[in-house]
Amino acid sequence: MNRRPASWHAATVVGTRAETPTARRIELDVPTWPGNDAGSHLDVRLTAPDGYQASRSYSIASSGEGTRVTLAVDEVPDGEVSPFLVHELREGDRIEVHGPLGAFFVWMPSTDPAPVQLIAGGSGIVPLFAMASAHARSSDPAPFRLLSSVRSETDMFFRDELADLARRDDRLDVEVVYTRSAPPGSSVTPGRLTAERLRAAVVPAEQSPRVFVCGPTPFVEAVAGWLIEQGHAPARVRTERFGGSG
Ligand SMILES: Cc1cc2nc3c(=O)[nH]c(=O)nc-3n(C[C@H](O)[C@H](O)[C@H](O)COP(=O)(O)OP(=O)(O)OC[C@H]3O[C@@H](n4cnc5c(N)ncnc54)[C@H](O)[C@@H]3O)c2cc1C
Repeated sequence: MNRRPASWHAATVVGTRAETPTARRIELDVPTWPGNDAGSHLDVRLTAPDGYQASRSYSIASSGEGTRVTLAVDEVPDGEVSPFLVHELREGDRIEVHGPLGAFFVWMPSTDPAPVQLIAGGSGIVPLFAMASAHARSSDPAPFRLLSSVRSETDMFFRDELADLARRDDRLDVEVVYTRSAPPGSSVTPGRLTAERLRAAVVPAEQSPRVFVCGPTPFVEAVAGWLIEQGHAPARVRTERFGGSG
């Protein structure tokens, strides 16, 4: 059960900006929003002038109380909804949102000292950024480690905020795997995440971390499979699939 009741809300776009070369950050004002836990998502519903409606799920990059809700949407070329959100949505536009949704893929501060491992593929970092930010604002003692897989440095969502969080908070470690090109001067070889790279980068199974994995469906399925093979308890591994096929 989500701690907060989900319902439909009218939302006004109060800001948008480029997040990566293919993604846009969207700031919404939702006066009736009940707040949301870190990691939850909502459904966006768009209605065309002829009454045609389309809705899609988007993770919420923000969390806690308050009526400002932040989304970050990556364009799926030829998609129905994401190109509109990335290219057409303007400040002042009104959309409908249903939420907050998702009680399973959320992180809340506790006194559990077990480490938390976050693993993101591309835009899958959105709910994990909400978790890392909520953790930084809390006195939760658990160490957090974030592993993010992106094509290149400019494809990293919330890059500056994450660098800043990691600099200010020694409970957070951030590691990035670049699949196409590594930053200039980097000694890391670009390449897709493999079982061995994963094993070397994440909190070892012996430390019983709680793990949250999010991203495109093929990424999440590969990573979750490797984690289980590497001895992580299935009950400690939570996943959120964004769709797409491999
Ligand atoms: C719980 C949840 C949270 C999500 N959060 C986010 C988020 O924070 N940011 C974000 O950008 N997206 C997120 N998504 C994905 C989002 O809901 C849409 O699926 C995505 O924006 C594509 O919608 P579309 O209408 O543009 O494409 P569609 O018209 O639905 O699909 C076009 C084609 O793209 C494929 N496709 C659909 N989704 C993806 C995908 N994610 N990756 C690759 N191919 C895909 C489809 O199979 C289809 O072939 C989330 C999905 C879920 C289920």
